Amino acid sequence: MTAHEFPRIELDSYDGVVILTGAGVSVASGIRPYRGPDGLWNDEKLVKYSRIATFRTDPLGVWRHWWKMRELALGASPNAAHLALARAEAARPEGKRFTLVTQNVDGLHYRAGSLSLVEYHGSCMRSRCSDPGCSLRPFQDRQCSGDTAPSCPLCGAPLREQIPRAQAGAVDKALDSCDLFIAVGTSGTVWPAAKFVDAAHGLGARTIYLNLQGLGELGGSGAFDEEYLGRAEILLPLMLGPEGASGDGEPLP
Ligand SMILES: [Zn+2]
Repeated sequence: MTAHEFPRIELDSYDGVVILTGAGVSVASGIRPYRGPDGLWNDEKLVKYSRIATFRTDPLGVWRHWWKMRELALGASPNAAHLALARAEAARPEGKRFTLVTQNVDGLHYRAGSLSLVEYHGSCMRSRCSDPGCSLRPFQDRQCSGDTAPSCPLCGAPLREQIPRAQAGAVDKALDSCDLFIAVGTSGTVWPAAKFVDAAHGLGARTIYLNLQGLGELGGSGAFDEEYLGRAEILLPLMLGPEGASGDGEPLP
């Protein structure tokens, strides 16, 4: 792998950068996507365990699922991909937009220091009160086990995992003024990735795909202008430039 195969992306030339990350970004942190019916992190389970109906009928079951995820996430650390994105954001000049949208719920972008972060499926590291009228703010929560579903310290209502609210609106807004869209570590072929790249492409943004598997192999979207294949923790520091380079990233497995 040489640098010229993977051109530097000059982020400063773009006013509105939107980066979408998926499971591939967290693999080097030891969090496997676990696809398939038994997958802990698969989208189907996330949807099921985020439904209010599931929570009403089986709150402890929902919590046990999130606690397992939390335990895995707490045992992991952000890798060079997470760090490169956090540094690229920190290096943005005043007035230039940067939005990081992640499908991951492991909280690793947050721990890496990303600020303009939309956790599209929520974060397994945060809890909130299930009563919308309660003043408890969502909080970072490290509890990983219990015999009962936890309750709110303020009002006693059941606590819930932090599922996203109005996140779709935040992404749509970022996409509206996007001139560079990068999808990394996600297939780019399924919802919501496919919808996002279509929107960005439709507005004339440059669209870039970074992943281990090629779009052709995945039956992928024609809305991507460029495709670069490799591991996120290698490609991102390489392509996002010196401000994105990771000097203290963790050793790669
Ligand atoms: Zn409450």
